[in-house]
Amino acid sequence: MTARILHGGPIRDQIYAELSQQIEQLRALGIRPGLAAVLAGENPASKIYVQNKIAACEKLGLGSWQLTPLDTVTTEEMLELVAELNRREEVDGILVQLPLPPQVDAKKVLEAVDPAKDVDGFHPANLGHLVAGRPTLVACTPLGVMEILRRSRIPIEGANAVVLGRSDIVGKPMALLLMHAHATVTICHSKTKSLPDLVRRADLVVAAMGRPAMVAPGWVRPGATVIDVGINRITDAAEAGRLYARFPARLEEFRAKGSTLVGDVHPDAAAVAGAITPVPGGVGPLTIAMLMSNTVKAARMRRAARAGQVQGADRPVIAAKR
Ligand code: NAP
Repeated sequence: MTARILHGGPIRDQIYAELSQQIEQLRALGIRPGLAAVLAGENPASKIYVQNKIAACEKLGLGSWQLTPLDTVTTEEMLELVAELNRREEVDGILVQLPLPPQVDAKKVLEAVDPAKDVDGFHPANLGHLVAGRPTLVACTPLGVMEILRRSRIPIEGANAVVLGRSDIVGKPMALLLMHAHATVTICHSKTKSLPDLVRRADLVVAAMGRPAMVAPGWVRPGATVIDVGINRITDAAEAGRLYARFPARLEEFRAKGSTLVGDVHPDAAAVAGAITPVPGGVGPLTIAMLMSNTVKAARMRRAARAGQVQGADRPVIAAKR
């Protein structure tokens, strides 16, 4: 069996086209959704992530601001910055890029973000709303996974879903979204026993552990859907040779660049699964798309809906109970 490859790019483009229409509607009401990104310190990877997010805002015509406090910033200074962004009417979304410098109390800073502007969906109030199935802002990566599943018409209702990983930003919200969409969900983590057996029972596997190629082809039930959230960079030639023995183009890429990305699922699982997301190019493109979507949603919920100008802005993101 060769799996259907669930590419994220076309789905992202579809979402951008839909968002453009919503942005146009908001513009007619004099509202331009805007995202403020706080990038503290000099982390090179964080800089690239923030640049990509700002570029997406520009592409869609959203307002964007980048705030760059120094490495030496204190928790109090970060709290003042967030308070200022909370006050600014034209800022709909606030993104605090992680990791923060070690002296900063990251939890305190994230909890200071106005939940109505929490486009990362990290605030406990928003997590609570998600648990309760109420309209809210949800973490971008799991939201992106749901878009891939729905738009690829992968059955969720009644499916046995296994989520590998229980982080606050991926595993937990993922499991809740799948449960609200009527899957039967098993959440696995580093202390789970008999992991391969649990995965083998799944119709739908979401892997988010940060463990390169850990999900072996033999763990996957033939025909299952596999969503690979993991992004791991490998630089070891022997490892690349083992993982991509059946993918000469990827080996070529490794030789040219000296590194390549691998997910949490072994690439050979594509010969067993019914549908699978590639790494890169699967879940990755959706994460920024959902950040844009959350920013537009935050503008609709906070500004337009408050003025009674947009219908349905507070629609639940999750399937209704029947
Ligand atoms: P994280 O905070 O490190 O959480 C990892 C989770 O995996 C934890 O719950 C951990 O269990 C579990 N885990 C680790 N080793 C395990 C093992 N051997 N067996 C079973 N469970 C294990 O990571 P994260 O932030 O959720 O990210 C997960 C992966 O997704 C990373 O590769 C990250 O780069 C990627 N990611 C991708 C995107 C994207 O846009 N595609 C976005 C976000 C994250 P414990 O709780 O027991 O420690």
